[in-house]
Amino acid sequence: MRLKRSFIYLLIALIIIGLIGCGPSTMDTEAPLDTNDQQEQKTALLKVHFIDVGQADCILIQAPTGENMLIDAGNNDDADTIVSYLNAQGVKKVDILVGTHPHEDHIGSLDTVINTFDIGKIYMPRVTHTTKTFEDVLLAVKNKGLKISTAKGGTSIDFSPDTKVEIVAPNSSQYESLNNYSAVIKLTYGKTSFLFTGDAEDISENEMLTANYDLKADVLKVGHHGSSSSSTRPFLKAVSPKYAVISVGKDNDYGHPHKETINRLFESGISVFRTDESGTIIFTTDGDKIEIEREVSPQARNNQLTKEDIIVYITKSGKKYHVDGCDSLCNSKIPIKLSEAKKKGYGPCKGCNPPQ
Ligand SMILES: [Zn+2]
Ligand SMILES: [Zn+2]
Repeated sequence: MRLKRSFIYLLIALIIIGLIGCGPSTMDTEAPLDTNDQQEQKTALLKVHFIDVGQADCILIQAPTGENMLIDAGNNDDADTIVSYLNAQGVKKVDILVGTHPHEDHIGSLDTVINTFDIGKIYMPRVTHTTKTFEDVLLAVKNKGLKISTAKGGTSIDFSPDTKVEIVAPNSSQYESLNNYSAVIKLTYGKTSFLFTGDAEDISENEMLTANYDLKADVLKVGHHGSSSSSTRPFLKAVSPKYAVISVGKDNDYGHPHKETINRLFESGISVFRTDESGTIIFTTDGDKIEIEREVSPQARNNQLTKEDIIVYITKSGKKYHVDGCDSLCNSKIPIKLSEAKKKGYGPCKGCNPPQ
């Protein structure tokens, strides 16, 4: 009896030792896998740049696998800003180009973008406009042998292997206001999502709600530069973003963003970022966490000053004026008031985009 019992104890002891022995070896094989996963996630980042183009929209999206999407291209006079910014990000090809609707503050420099970069596919809503700006875009599309794909609700965009991109508006074929033709785009990467609304107003917002799209997003590009005609309470509730971005110019003629909109956003506990205050705003995500970077651009920095106060820099031999830190400045930079630099015949440097 005693022997048998000892034998059973011995067996139990062996089993326990065996189990403990197994423990570390299982963990050993799991640990390196975890590290690999983390390393993979670290490099697989999606970047969304809300480029500061004043009272206009321009959003660059860089997929983890290197594809680029551009939603809108500022006003006509933002061409240099946009081209320099895209160049600085290493953009050679715009795989997906979207002109949300034919207003100048959205398609202004689309023609320059088309003429400057390789273009994959271009999406625009099916609506025309009689302006030269719009005709310039059509001409650039034609000259490059491109075809415009129609942006309308329910269309999927093939952007990159790891992202899902869906157009959720427009959902009708006729609107009174051009703004409601705005292509509204939802981008999903991992657990994170973004909603880009162009200038879509309440009518389009209601249609998106009625059509039952999954509008939930972490980041909302607020419709129509923060106008009170967009961002209705039911729409904000459906999107329920953590962050909202308003692309807007300081002291614009429209009084954007409207107080009512700002109140509705704050009421809902949403963190609001504005390009007139922060300059270009960059969201980076690994598909799980979102990080936000604000680059105070020369434009935003100078918005806080009156024009006469702005200090630019020149060199002894150069013919251009620059912002501080421009690569073209040598050690002997000379500070000068913008008005004086212009009076003396200096022109703005193309590389650093100083105020003009
Ligand atoms: Zn607009
Ligand atoms: Zn508009």
